[in-house]
Amino acid sequence: MRELDAHNRGAYTIQELRRMYDSIIKDIDKEIKKIFNTYKNGVQITAEEAEQLINKAAQNQIADRLSEILKDTEDPKQRLELMRKIHAQAYGARISRLEAVKLNVYAYFKEKALTEIEKTKTLYNTVIEESYYRTVHDIAKGCNVGVYFSLIPKRAVNEMLGSKWHGEQFSDRVWNNTAKVAEQSQKIITEGIMSHAGYTQMAARLAEIMETSKYNAQRLVNTQVSYFMNMAELRAYEELGIEQYKYLATLDERTCESCSPLDNKIFKVSEAVGGVNYPPMHPHCRCTTTMPTDYARRWARDPLTGKGYKIKGMSYNEWIESLTDKQKEAFDKHVVMYRNRGGDKKQYVRYTEVLGKKNVPKTFDEFQNIKYNYTNQWDDLKYYARNINGRPIEYVKIDRELEKAGIKNKGKAYPVEDIKINGWRVHAENRIKQSGISKAEALTYKKNAIAIMKRYPEPNTLCDYYSSSGVIGVKSYSGIVQTVISKDRMMNDTLVVIEVMKKWLK
Ligand SMILES: [Zn+2]
Repeated sequence: MRELDAHNRGAYTIQELRRMYDSIIKDIDKEIKKIFNTYKNGVQITAEEAEQLINKAAQNQIADRLSEILKDTEDPKQRLELMRKIHAQAYGARISRLEAVKLNVYAYFKEKALTEIEKTKTLYNTVIEESYYRTVHDIAKGCNVGVYFSLIPKRAVNEMLGSKWHGEQFSDRVWNNTAKVAEQSQKIITEGIMSHAGYTQMAARLAEIMETSKYNAQRLVNTQVSYFMNMAELRAYEELGIEQYKYLATLDERTCESCSPLDNKIFKVSEAVGGVNYPPMHPHCRCTTTMPTDYARRWARDPLTGKGYKIKGMSYNEWIESLTDKQKEAFDKHVVMYRNRGGDKKQYVRYTEVLGKKNVPKTFDEFQNIKYNYTNQWDDLKYYARNINGRPIEYVKIDRELEKAGIKNKGKAYPVEDIKINGWRVHAENRIKQSGISKAEALTYKKNAIAIMKRYPEPNTLCDYYSSSGVIGVKSYSGIVQTVISKDRMMNDTLVVIEVMKKWLK
């Protein structure tokens, strides 16, 4: 079952890749037609025209295009290859039209290689996570012992994605495969032109090699899905403290020679090597592993410490009953965390978008840990996400702290913005007289404000400018000063607001 799901996903990605290769062939077709359209007879190139093609310099933006590809390429080896081509373009002599066409073909394949790597990486990521959780879950259910679900760290997933099977990372394989087809395509074009072959002939040969590359891409995806699925299972064994695994060859007429001798053999998890004693052994390998049954029967995991331990023959329910209250509580929490994984992940993405990467826990695991284990921290985070309203995070932190201090009627903190003053309410003028200050002095409160506290709904918002020496309130809609409070007339709450603002807005 596990295998089927992953391979269904794989089938979908393969379809996408096939479409991608179909579009490459259209792109290359266009390139070739460009050559033929230049020449009147259209169908066949004469020797003279071929000569012209090779000698005539072409104006093109090929170096720019290659630079674009370089931007998205991470692998140092691949970057070097691209930089060499770009360098040759920037400093080299004018290139022939044929050379330009060939470089364009090269660029098409490199662009597609990047897309292919990205698309398949997403697939493998899902395969790893699902396979990991499913294994943990299956072991819990199938072995009739309790386990708690621990999340697979992002770092472990990335490590797996970068790992090598038979000496190569999957991204290298994609890159090398496309490099091979690119080279073959270039060769077909050159030979076609040199031998004065017709357009149809070239197109037919190109279609042929494209079929091969489609098959190669498909084979690669299937093999890598199998590889990552098995790697994730291995990781789950490690995580659960399972020390041994049993190799299961798919036993039918298709079982190959390298796999059948491994069938039913038991190996140490710590000594598993992909391609040697751990599947897949070869492309299209359908072998899997399982944990030895007698081992499963005497194995459990402490929900509090996470350590595996051996138990005497116990049913799942008996095992649950043997737990202390604290262990049970931890167990239940882990079950909830596991079940809510999907929703929590979406929430994590949303919080990251709203609050910015810097202001949320670095990893999803940390995020879930805070959500289920640290109520205060979680309540703050939830408050920030709901109330930030596009402001820099410091301002929502001011709101939160004031709320916690019991100050609720002072409004919400915002960055200082300028409002043109259009007049003064009598009340405000009286306050100035009582405080023995001038209008000019009251206006310095606005000029030196640390932040604004906004009250009342938009657009008729009251904006209170808070400065260390006083507060001035202006209606944003009319620009009329509503109130003025000089420093010596400030109430305790106002002083707290200023203190909190200073704390967060240094
Ligand atoms: Zn096999």
